[in-house]
Amino acid sequence: MTSVSTLTFLEARACVLERVKAARPAPAVEEVGIDCAAGRVLARDAVADRDYPPLDRSVRDGFAVRSSDTPGEVRVIGQVRAGEISSLEIGPSEAIEIMTGAPVPRGADAIVMVEHVTRDGDRISVPKAKPAQFINPQGCEARDGAVAIPAGKRLDYSGVALLATIGVTRVPVFRKPSVALLATGDEIVGLNSVPEAHQIRNSNVHSLAVQAARAGGDPRILPVAADNRESTRAMIELGLGSDLLLVSGGVSAGKYDLVESVLADLGAEFFFDRVRIQPGQPLVFGRAKEKFFFGLPGNPASTMVTFEIFARAALEVLGGQSDSLLPITHARLAADFRHKPGLTRFLPAWLGADGSLMPVPWQGSGDVPSLTRANAYLVTDPDRESWKTGDLIQVLLK
Ligand code: AMP
Ligand code: MG
Repeated sequence: MTSVSTLTFLEARACVLERVKAARPAPAVEEVGIDCAAGRVLARDAVADRDYPPLDRSVRDGFAVRSSDTPGEVRVIGQVRAGEISSLEIGPSEAIEIMTGAPVPRGADAIVMVEHVTRDGDRISVPKAKPAQFINPQGCEARDGAVAIPAGKRLDYSGVALLATIGVTRVPVFRKPSVALLATGDEIVGLNSVPEAHQIRNSNVHSLAVQAARAGGDPRILPVAADNRESTRAMIELGLGSDLLLVSGGVSAGKYDLVESVLADLGAEFFFDRVRIQPGQPLVFGRAKEKFFFGLPGNPASTMVTFEIFARAALEVLGGQSDSLLPITHARLAADFRHKPGLTRFLPAWLGADGSLMPVPWQGSGDVPSLTRANAYLVTDPDRESWKTGDLIQVLLK
């Protein structure tokens, strides 16, 4: 088959996001209990049920004072603990002992930390206090009725804490998109078989299942498609029943790489079929029977990397996320590094606790053991040839 389109990494990523955002069907909504909401995508705006904090609140243990009385000596007329509201009002040269989290008593406009005060009976000597110091004013974190978490956000533990704070215990979330995982190849055998010397166990669907679940999808592993048109077509048709189809293998230029031509027979539209990256140059993205699909190259590293940088974005958007971001940052190389320019490469690397990045030696995209020794991918700039130890380089977290 002739090439549909070869794109750079960034062009291909933009294409995936644009196509999926433009054509995604509105995901169905379901409700889950708050303790099952982490990792799910919020389907409706979560709204603050009152001001947060609901009253002016002290953020230190100490004394509530009038800043105009400071510096100076004031008299302690009472105390207020977290969970109480003081009925007392502070007058001139008066203070109330206050604990972190307690409402600031009327008349006070500043908190002085207990560590900064000297006490003699009911009298304390306080340093200069600025108005409003150590007070979180009512509504400074969220206003009553304001959107606390917008729909389309994937909930993490802090999101769950905020839902709990505002009293949302039944959480509307988008249904997880189903993802069909299809391995192809006459050499591929299931995990229940002992492979002959010319055969390989089907590891790709298992790594993809982990990655798909991590991206918020509901993975479904299909039977392996043999390298003939009938089997490939039958399994692809089955896979197009899911919200997203991921095919591993069969997209290179070999005589038995049939995935693209079978998809073409099924009336597929192709957006690209080659990307200037390594691993994973032959990479197919398109749409058939109103479903998006990726044909990922079969070498394990190619499958893993192309999922992370492309399929994950598609899946997150299909799952109702308002956007998908790549966890790319910069780190300093722990060794000199060079590559042949022209491709954006994603190579296994170790990001140390000190922020340094060391490439992990590997034997190429079939080398699964090396991948397990990496916690990140070094990402090369296609226009640059060499880096010195200590140079900043891009890194994709694994
Ligand atoms: P392909 O992209 O079909 O040419 O496959 C390239 C290579 O990837 C094959 O020769 C296998 O070594 C490996 N491979 C393909 N599919 C899988 C799979 N499902 N699990 C593990 N390795 C695979
Ligand atoms: Mg193959």
